[in-house]
Amino acid sequence: MKQSHQISMKPFNSFAVEASADTYVEINHWYELDELDAAQSADAPLLCLGEGSNVLFVDDYPGTVLRIRNQGISVVDEDDEQLVLRVAAGESWHQLVTWSVNHDLWGLENLALIPGSVGAAPIQNIGAYGVELAHCLQSVQVFDRQQSCWLRMSLDEADLSYRDSLFKRDQDQRYLISEVCFCLSKRPEPVLTYPGLIDYLQRHSDREAGREYSSFEIAEAVSAIRRSKLPDPSQLPNAGSFFKNPQVRAAQYHGLKEQYPNIPGFAVDSHDDPYPSEEDSLIKLSAGWLIEQAGWKGHRLGDAGVAPGHALVMVNHGSASGRDIWSLAQAIQSDVHSRFGVSLQPEPRIIGA
Ligand code: NAP
Repeated sequence: MKQSHQISMKPFNSFAVEASADTYVEINHWYELDELDAAQSADAPLLCLGEGSNVLFVDDYPGTVLRIRNQGISVVDEDDEQLVLRVAAGESWHQLVTWSVNHDLWGLENLALIPGSVGAAPIQNIGAYGVELAHCLQSVQVFDRQQSCWLRMSLDEADLSYRDSLFKRDQDQRYLISEVCFCLSKRPEPVLTYPGLIDYLQRHSDREAGREYSSFEIAEAVSAIRRSKLPDPSQLPNAGSFFKNPQVRAAQYHGLKEQYPNIPGFAVDSHDDPYPSEEDSLIKLSAGWLIEQAGWKGHRLGDAGVAPGHALVMVNHGSASGRDIWSLAQAIQSDVHSRFGVSLQPEPRIIGA
């Protein structure tokens, strides 16, 4: 266990904003979490950071920032249909996706090139192109700081929903994720529901009609689309999508559609109410579309800005502070609310607001 004090978090967050942590701890093996438990009381402030790609430091952190950097991918079960993988929380997400498609496995290909670590993926229930992590997550091994013991949580217990989970709501950082198990298919299970992805595959493939794409080809296509649309955090610091897509009742959506005939809307499956009346059913709006319509795409206030190529991505053009970025995000929230009557919620964890 490596421990230091008053450490800058700038190298550890993809927004590259300056903030310091009272204490910084890095561990390379899961069993070191026991040592951490002995050194730190369960109610002392602790923030677990993966690759820092989904966090905005608005202030210094008055506690311990922990990075879990354990490594390892192993097959724990297998039959003709599927394979169960156990993956250390410190592995890079995209490297895991690459590993899986290189082994001709199915389940993770639409999630290619999402920045971050494997341990961070369940917190956010990462998702893209019609697939969420919940589709192939089997279980999560956690250290419970309150009970000082190890637990294996099932998918149900982890309570994953749209960009949310038990872990994201766990403000006191009770659970520390050390490993994640995935169930991946050996049989082709392509999810090709997004027009942008289908279009890319058709334009870039010389396949005969009727032949299926491999998971490798789909991951390559997703990576290429993401590279063309989203700024690279190493060139223009950012944390990917800054706002979640809001969900509204169909009645509100129809009202908006009368005013804005082009507004995109997608029906949402409601687990709470599987048979809602037509007006009560939920429609997902595109946060990016709302922000772009409101004129914020490419907008810049000092060094805090909205990416020129994607209205959903807030960026740091150089020396913006977390507070600068958060102030701009709040101005966008308030403007979108006054124009459309829709509340935008941030997707990254906002620390210190
Ligand atoms: P896009 O393909 O231009 O689509 C715009 C919006 O419409 C997205 O928000 C998407 O919702 C929704 N959408 C499009 N086709 C849909 C369909 N067939 N069914 C349901 N919803 C549909 O989106 P984009 O901004 O370029 O992003 C492409 C994908 O990458 C999206 O899935 C997005 O969530 C994902 N992404 C993730 C991150 C991240 O940091 N995790 C960053 C950027 C983009 P959804 O967003 O719910 O899919």
